[in-house]
Amino acid sequence: MRLFSRILLSHLTAILVAGIGVAVIAGIISPGIYRAHLDRIAIFAGPEIVRLRVALEVGYQDTMLTALAIALPVSLLFAVGTAYLITRRITTAVQKLAEGSREIAHGRYSKRLETAGKDELGEIALHFNRMANALEEAEKSRVELIGTVAHELSTPLATLQGHAEALMDGMMPPEEVAQAVTREMNAMRRLSHDLLLLTKVEAAALELHPAAHETCDLIAEVQDRFMHVFEEKGLALRIEASQDLPAVYADRERVGQVLGNLLSNALRYTPEGGQVVLGMQAGQDAIQFSVADNGPGISPEHQMHIFRRFYRVDASRSRADGGTGIGLTVARGLVEAMGGRMWLESEVGRGTTFYFTLPVAVGARA
Ligand code: ADP
Repeated sequence: MRLFSRILLSHLTAILVAGIGVAVIAGIISPGIYRAHLDRIAIFAGPEIVRLRVALEVGYQDTMLTALAIALPVSLLFAVGTAYLITRRITTAVQKLAEGSREIAHGRYSKRLETAGKDELGEIALHFNRMANALEEAEKSRVELIGTVAHELSTPLATLQGHAEALMDGMMPPEEVAQAVTREMNAMRRLSHDLLLLTKVEAAALELHPAAHETCDLIAEVQDRFMHVFEEKGLALRIEASQDLPAVYADRERVGQVLGNLLSNALRYTPEGGQVVLGMQAGQDAIQFSVADNGPGISPEHQMHIFRRFYRVDASRSRADGGTGIGLTVARGLVEAMGGRMWLESEVGRGTTFYFTLPVAVGARA
């Protein structure tokens, strides 16, 4: 009860100061004023004034003493009561906070505190609950990530085991097994590379080297990279860029990575004979990029989750095509790290358009 003694002491000090103040006024200043009044009354009172004066002075002192005798114990009682209530409120809140912290320290993230009261103690409970929410989310996401990675690894490992057994039983020629093993190893290497990138994006630990780049140079770069593969698959890649696009402020390599991911997806999911349009449009502070295809489209219930890590609309097809389900998560993380945002519009049977923005370089703004 150290807190109680301190609060009580501060209350008693306040009472003592108030008491001394009253005593000084009652004992030193008021008698002078009182006597001056009695002197004025003396003119009307005649010879009886001496007795009257004594009686009145005794009455005055009695009144003062009685007032003090009543006020002092009442205020002392009041001081003890308020000190007790304040101490109880503070210690209860601190004890609950300590108990909550202990639960969190032991990994039990579901603990929440009552947020009664709108004072600072209530605010502490509110902040504690927000912290617990964030920790619970992080823990959930960590457990989910480990589970998904284990699951992602189990598929290529099972395939490798199957091929090894087929080789031992002489069911498959070694060359065919070697090819299959290489394919699975490549899938695992891609997964580990994507996971590494994903971890950096999610931990905001990506090293970025943003600079001003001519937007048309970036477009020319991806066009060089993709024109040939699009032609090979019998797909048309069209560029639609407005005239005089301002320079963009971004990390050149990462922009290439984002565009590369969106174009690879468009290439992968659009059937032969389809068309993909890479568009660019300048806004006030940002340039809007778009990759539109006339592929199968993505239904609204899938669109909601499409940027979640490991999310695939058709898991078996995506995995068979070498997809890890991380590409869009990383792409959006990269865009956001460069100060932009990413979203999509899609209609089943008509196609999908992914949009993202990047800031216009300072000095190139309209
Ligand atoms: P993946 O490596 O599996 O392609 P992404 O994160 O790049 O992973 O994409 C997630 C899922 O979104 C894909 O598995 C696919 O189902 C869907 N998707 C992405 N782009 C398109 C597209 N242009 N058209 C249709 N579906 C797409």
